Amino acid sequence: AKAAGRDTHRFYAEAMNAEAVAHLSTRSGLRRALERGEFLIHYQPQVSLETGAVTGAEALLRWNHPEKGMVPPGAFIPIAEDSGLIVPIGAWVLAEACRQAARWRDQGLSLSVAVNLSALQLQRSDLVPTVTRALADSGLDPLLLELELTESMLIQNTDLVMENLRRLKAMGVQMSIDDFGTGYSNLSYIGRLAVDKLKIDRSFVADLTRSHDSAKITAAVIQMAHSLNLTAVAEGVEDAGTLEALRVLRCDVAQGYYLGRPGPAEAVERAARQVNPF
Ligand code: C2E
Ligand code: CA
Ligand code: CA
Ligand code: CA
Repeated sequence: AKAAGRDTHRFYAEAMNAEAVAHLSTRSGLRRALERGEFLIHYQPQVSLETGAVTGAEALLRWNHPEKGMVPPGAFIPIAEDSGLIVPIGAWVLAEACRQAARWRDQGLSLSVAVNLSALQLQRSDLVPTVTRALADSGLDPLLLELELTESMLIQNTDLVMENLRRLKAMGVQMSIDDFGTGYSNLSYIGRLAVDKLKIDRSFVADLTRSHDSAKITAAVIQMAHSLNLTAVAEGVEDAGTLEALRVLRCDVAQGYYLGRPGPAEAVERAARQVNPF
């Protein structure tokens, strides 16, 4: 019976493809990473197109793996979502990002921090308590915390999701729609959810100076944002020409490699202390 058990085990092990095995190791790796403090956050500056000042930063998760080095989120967030580990990992990101923004405030810098939420977090009843705790523990003003949601996360607008968004909004937390223009085309949620910002997807922004269509879409999103009293943010700004085009279109805020790559908090601090990075 023992041998049969081993054979069965071997059969399943061999039947699993390499990808599944890699997933398994990453899943236990992720749990260990959280326990051992292997996660860190890189921050990418967001710059006002009107004043040139750094107004905030997006928190982007990194895994400093003991053997593989710095692992980008695309390589492990899907696994963290499948295994549910995104919930404790996401809670850590929220707490750490709020602590960082509070440190900036203590240094005399008024910078907001934008945190990416996963669909799973938005669908849970512990989201509001988690955000409340991150704000209370850090002492951060809720107005300086921004949560980035994607359009696809709002398709499942269950009562719990709506209630979470309503309560976060009532606390003063800012809401931003990430990758805007790539998802769901029913825009009715924008008014209903009291969204504050639209982040124009980088696929439009990257083509802005080369494609008439991308330029028209970007212009239309900026106009729509303004007519709804929302802030328009462009992500993926990689060159001076794109930055200038966005200024002409009266976009409010820009983010991208040209203005600053994601990096340690100190890089954002240095940029924020410069009077005018343009
Ligand atoms: P995102 O929210 O759309 O984040 C922007 C991504 O674009 C980041 O990739 C950033 O490094 C990259 N980027 C910024 N500027 C430029 C540019 O000028 N050109 C180009 N080509 N890329 C630029 P990153 O850090 O690899 O993150 C990828 C995705 O992982 C994020 O996309 C977000 O969806 C997810 N993510 C990151 N951190 C978290 C987190 O804490 N929680 C959750 N749930 N998701 C996260
Ligand atoms: Ca984002
Ligand atoms: Ca984005
Ligand atoms: Ca994205």
